[in-house]
Amino acid sequence: AHLDRIGAVDGAINAFLHVNTDEALLVAAGVDRARADDEALHPLAGVPIAVKDLIVTRGQPTTAGSRMLEGWQSPYDATVVRKLRAARMPILGKTNLDEFAMGSSTEHSAYGPTRNPWDLDRIPGGSGGGSAAAVAAFEAPLALGTDTGGSIRQPGAVTGTVGVKPTYGGVSRYGAIAMASSLDQIGPVSRTVLDSALLHEVIGGHDPQDSTSLTDPVGALVEAARRGEVEGMRIGVIRELQGEGYQAGVLARFHESLDLLRSAGAEIVEVSCPNFRYALGAYYLIMPSEASSNLAKYDGVRFGLRVVPDGAPTIERVMGATRAAGFGDEVKRRIILGTYALSAGYYDAYYGSAQQVRTLIQRDFAAAFEQADVLISPTAPTTAFRLGEKLGDPLAMYLNDVATIPANLAGVPGLSLPGGLADEDGLPVGVQLLAPARQDARLYRVGAVLE
Ligand code: GLN
Repeated sequence: AHLDRIGAVDGAINAFLHVNTDEALLVAAGVDRARADDEALHPLAGVPIAVKDLIVTRGQPTTAGSRMLEGWQSPYDATVVRKLRAARMPILGKTNLDEFAMGSSTEHSAYGPTRNPWDLDRIPGGSGGGSAAAVAAFEAPLALGTDTGGSIRQPGAVTGTVGVKPTYGGVSRYGAIAMASSLDQIGPVSRTVLDSALLHEVIGGHDPQDSTSLTDPVGALVEAARRGEVEGMRIGVIRELQGEGYQAGVLARFHESLDLLRSAGAEIVEVSCPNFRYALGAYYLIMPSEASSNLAKYDGVRFGLRVVPDGAPTIERVMGATRAAGFGDEVKRRIILGTYALSAGYYDAYYGSAQQVRTLIQRDFAAAFEQADVLISPTAPTTAFRLGEKLGDPLAMYLNDVATIPANLAGVPGLSLPGGLADEDGLPVGVQLLAPARQDARLYRVGAVLE
């Protein structure tokens, strides 16, 4: 059914870069599903899933949305993919993204933009626009994304889906092509809070192959999503993440969510996180710095694209020609920014101060979580913008991440869920919940009440 749906709508949406038409594999998983008496069968067995094309999969290509990896196949599975296979979840295909996950609109993909199923002239968010659009358009019931500064949550917000960035270290990053290693996290994309909890339990938990993996067990997330209760909980509204720059229809739906929580017995308090105003600036130094280092491996020698220019094929010339041809403009912009910020003489002024801001943001969160069990804000300041609208203005594009970035800088978990449609344009609005590190269960407990 999902392959049929993809065949019918993906020509217009372009959520998939690769579709796995290996029916035998899909059917085999379905047959397992039918053996319902098998106690060992996972509840998601047989449920197909789409995987963001930044996560490596054996037997299917992985491009990272870049010409640099066109046609490349990984010799191994990411840990999360291995876990999907162990749960007998067929992998439906690989989804579109901004090149190397750099972007907020999926327009920076080397394979053409993904379109928002709600309005094909609008962006589906980014970088994980393919995963969110696939789930929103019923091409896949579930998907995996990666979130470095909001790439699971912001696409969720603008496509009316649920997206979760787990606690940093809660889900293994082994096999996720690194963008900014201290910020990256893999997480679920779904249509309901419970579905994300089910998937989160499959992919979470300790992995010795990821040195930043937490050793705690993944926690009772499904139980929290089933329980859905906020009686006596304190929910903190972040003062700095509302007001100026936020669309009226986004704020209206956000305030309705607060009313809903209040009527379900939660106490709504206001918290202040004054250093969040520096989060965007710190992120756009730390993220390009780490990316410039992580992307140094695309040298035309080890794997992926190799361009040999005319004349003497020296290592520098092959490397230069390969990187000039293989990377798109946004990736080049960030590599240049990152290498500049890390260079001797500028390191302390840029990278060093960004790291200090990061500490201040962590302290803001710590203080806020003394006053509230869960924090809440709009996920993105606006609903989906039009394709091309912000393409010529990188700063305007970066501003869309203002509410999602603090969680990555502090390593805390976040969940975005649909809050209804904005009056002015009829497009989905996202509401974001944030919890202290390792308290991902709280997101599901509160999210289930808002759904
Ligand atoms: N939109 C943000 C960026 O461009 C976040 C990307 C991400 O989370 N991968 O960096």
